Amino acid sequence: MKLIRADKLIDGTGAKALEGAAILIEGDRIKAVGRAADIGQPEGAEIIDAPKGTTIIPGLIDAHVHMAYSGAVDLDAFRVETALIHCPAMALRAARYARETLEYGITAVRDMHAPGGTIIDLRRAIDAGQVEGPRIKACGLGLTVTGGHMDQPGFGDHVMFRDMNANCEGPDGFRAGVRQQLKRGADFIKLNPCVGSRRDERYFRFEMTLAEITAACEEAHEQGVMVGAHTSGGPPLSAAIRAGCDTVEHAHWIDDETLAYMAEHGTYLVPTLAVNEASSAYILEHGASERTLKWASDSETAKWERLTRAKAAGVKVAMGSDAGFFLPHGAGNLREIELLVQGGYSPIEAIHCATAVGADLMQIDAGRLIAGKFADIVLVAGDPTENISILRDKTKLTVFKGGKPVSRRLKH
Ligand SMILES: [Zn+2]
Repeated sequence: MKLIRADKLIDGTGAKALEGAAILIEGDRIKAVGRAADIGQPEGAEIIDAPKGTTIIPGLIDAHVHMAYSGAVDLDAFRVETALIHCPAMALRAARYARETLEYGITAVRDMHAPGGTIIDLRRAIDAGQVEGPRIKACGLGLTVTGGHMDQPGFGDHVMFRDMNANCEGPDGFRAGVRQQLKRGADFIKLNPCVGSRRDERYFRFEMTLAEITAACEEAHEQGVMVGAHTSGGPPLSAAIRAGCDTVEHAHWIDDETLAYMAEHGTYLVPTLAVNEASSAYILEHGASERTLKWASDSETAKWERLTRAKAAGVKVAMGSDAGFFLPHGAGNLREIELLVQGGYSPIEAIHCATAVGADLMQIDAGRLIAGKFADIVLVAGDPTENISILRDKTKLTVFKGGKPVSRRLKH
């Protein structure tokens, strides 16, 4: 057993911080949490008194990452790495990113698509103790239509990819796609039901048909897994949610009626504020068509306005950064928590989004510092309720996953 005592503890439930706190760990689970005076000193426990000013928080959870990608802030670099790196090499590189992610206090991630399903194997290696990294839920390949959002736009027609994404057509094709990813070992299904138009002014249109979305959701639910959906917004998004998508990613344009439906049915919103910020900055810096510039500006406005209404409607909002795409693993993930605070969440609420809500979304037994949960915890040298940005400084973090301290790498 280990007993860790610190000045403050934030348990992830959204409750206010507990002063003079202690957390008792037995094996990989939390045995007790409370005031140090109440918990006392159980016999045989190793006592760790954290330095003055330390705050204990749950391990953070990023509900939208791409461990197979490097975070290159350049679309051409992204295409080159997509085309030139073999899947086994991606998996090996991802092991380094997993390590980096863990050092930043992120003890669980949901991986939203990886060529070759490589992150399923990274998950297996981590679970087997062969590689150090966060708990992972992986979708394998994202399901997309021919010419769709994930069908590798930007390459010549003569370029053929194999095992880069799962192209499906028609309701039966999407059912087969779901079955194929689950056979491969996916934990959930990623769909691309609704996107912005590349050919006209619309910010949202159906990419999959409603029959395809419904079939994919039915098959996934029948097999007991959730569906995460890349979406832009509008009526296609509302229809995709009603067809069964359990989590919606990006989703800039959502009307109040849909937010009320999400709150009632427990649909999660993963707003990915950080990748939007990074891609808008890229567009502004490198120039783009008038239409793209207008999209960048309008989506920035829409994302904040939507977040305010989602919060007011009581929608479950999980922290998800899109790290790996335009954002480096580690510090990039935690830009998202700063942006949640910028968007109107208190630091305690933002930590709730980045812990308990993420754990519920991922269906893992973590994210709250309460007895019985996995002892995924972070000791922060400072107070994140006064300065949330402290979480982006990994030198201020001491991380435990399943009760075990994460060893620091020799070199940073
Ligand atoms: Zn993504």
